[in-house]
Amino acid sequence: MALQICPKCKKLAFTWFIDEEQTPLTQWGCECGYYALEDESKMRDCPDCHVKKAYSYMIDDENKYWWCYRCGKIEKI
Ligand SMILES: [Zn+2]
Ligand SMILES: [Zn+2]
Repeated sequence: MALQICPKCKKLAFTWFIDEEQTPLTQWGCECGYYALEDESKMRDCPDCHVKKAYSYMIDDENKYWWCYRCGKIEKI
């Protein structure tokens, strides 16, 4: 699976996995220790780069935010 730019440390080390026993949401993790969940049912088109279904609804310990895995746009909710 492809690595993405981590929203926290900005390194190309962010990757996802699914463990349905833990949560139905997609889990994202980075080597820096950052961890977030993604609600794939809320995916939409990125308002900046316009890539379809690239804008993801992310949930971490402190925030909920929109994040584009293609251009890196972040929008706090
Ligand atoms: Zn990171
Ligand atoms: Zn984008």
